[in-house]
Amino acid sequence: MIEIIALIIWAGFATYAIWYFTMAKHYAPLTLNEAKILWKIHKQTIPCHSKMWREIRRGKKIVGFECECGYKHIQKRPIRANKPSQTANPQLSIIRELHKA
Ligand SMILES: [Zn+2]
Repeated sequence: MIEIIALIIWAGFATYAIWYFTMAKHYAPLTLNEAKILWKIHKQTIPCHSKMWREIRRGKKIVGFECECGYKHIQKRPIRANKPSQTANPQLSIIRELHKA
């Protein structure tokens, strides 16, 4: 009986681990501008006074940025921007998006 329970728990954990690792590989591509906005948000929140950053790429896609201070951000979930007409301030919409997470 204990073996069966252990097997169920282990199977559940294995499923979760597989799900976690396959999902983690799915990077959300960013545009250069989005990466720049995220870097500016990082500078405001730390606050960080670095003036340099570079994009982190997976293949041809930008998936995050690396700040001069050593901070790295990799976007794992897509930023779903509102319709262009509603985004008077794209930086604000991204902040709202991040706070939902
Ligand atoms: Zn920084």
